Amino acid sequence: QSVLGILGGGQLARMLAIAAAPLGVKTLVVDSAADACAGQVAPLRLADWTDFAALEKFAAEVDVVTFDFENVPADTAHWLAERVAVFPNPRALAVAQDRLAEKTLFRECGLQTPAFEAVDTREDLERALAKVGVPSILKTRRLGYDGKGQFRIKQRSDADAAWETLGANAHGLILEAFVPFERELSVLAVRTRHGDFRVWPLTQNWHTDGVLSMSLAPAPEVGALQARAAALARTLAEQLDYVGVFALELFVKDGELLGNEMAPRVHNSGHWTIEGAITSQFENHVRAVLGLPLGDTSARGCSAMFNWIGELPDATPVLNSVDGHWHDYGKQSRPGRKVGHANVCAQDAKTLAARVAEIARALQRQDQAAPALQVL
Ligand code: ATP
Ligand code: MG
Ligand code: MG
Repeated sequence: QSVLGILGGGQLARMLAIAAAPLGVKTLVVDSAADACAGQVAPLRLADWTDFAALEKFAAEVDVVTFDFENVPADTAHWLAERVAVFPNPRALAVAQDRLAEKTLFRECGLQTPAFEAVDTREDLERALAKVGVPSILKTRRLGYDGKGQFRIKQRSDADAAWETLGANAHGLILEAFVPFERELSVLAVRTRHGDFRVWPLTQNWHTDGVLSMSLAPAPEVGALQARAAALARTLAEQLDYVGVFALELFVKDGELLGNEMAPRVHNSGHWTIEGAITSQFENHVRAVLGLPLGDTSARGCSAMFNWIGELPDATPVLNSVDGHWHDYGKQSRPGRKVGHANVCAQDAKTLAARVAEIARALQRQDQAAPALQVL
């Protein structure tokens, strides 16, 4: 029986473990947090990501290592890769950890990006503002997630406040043009050790305060963007010799794709695939990193995902829905924390709209569902 080691014990590790079980794959999770929610197996506790004594034991017990958490230090990933197979490889991880390296690679792969400039000093910020213009967003190059580590610059006079907030960041900053996008999409893709490559249908996403709020898949009326996104994801994966699932977050502006960022792991915008696709992102990630054949990535119909942030609402309206599915991560409630999601599926968009509207009404979540209902 294979043992899959997972670095990080959040909900992604939990859902990977759930998907791994029927494949006869055991999982061993390591995390430094006491409240890791991976649940399926008792996580091995690390003091931190440089706790090499504990990592030594971990490496000895697993066949393959993968990630729930993309900010595992590059040195730790390299150290592990000398002892055991690590997928995705440490270089892919390192690129995805740094917004500057990531956007530079996007451009090399033919994916346009918002205008961007590296910022290390207050003078750099002025120079970057002169080039990129306003409105723009100052972001930390590393460690940001859920919109954290970002400052929106509406006018040049906001530069002082932006610098005061983020200037002390030791890992450097990036200034990006603010894109008044028509829509946000993501492409979930998977590549095996043998180079087999598949994508799921494009997902449309809506964020509130920088956190994913709703997803819809397949994204309606994408036309040629599906093939374009798939080709870009494939080029990127081949450049990085990527193995496993990743997500590429995209903006659509004037009908063209712009690259925002990539996540070197299974992704929140792919959670609909659990019940909404023939094979989920979690199952295909496990298959890919273990060298097993991939499953079909087609959608079964249409799906919507409600992301539950902070605390879980009442599950009843989702459970009462014909093809509604509840996912409780077993986490403590905390403002801004991702604590669960609900997938709602249907054979066609009209039926899905009715089910989503019904759930939103019952839970008083009309605001959350409104943008998705508008395009359904
Ligand atoms: P995640 O949780 O997805 O890792 P993150 O903290 O890495 O988030 P981003 O994906 O960079 O942050 O930004 C979060 C959201 O903010 C985006 O999905 C998008 O809605 C908005 N956003 C980010 N950058 C830009 C931009 N340059 N122009 C317009 N909107 C943007
Ligand atoms: Mg991110
Ligand atoms: Mg993002």
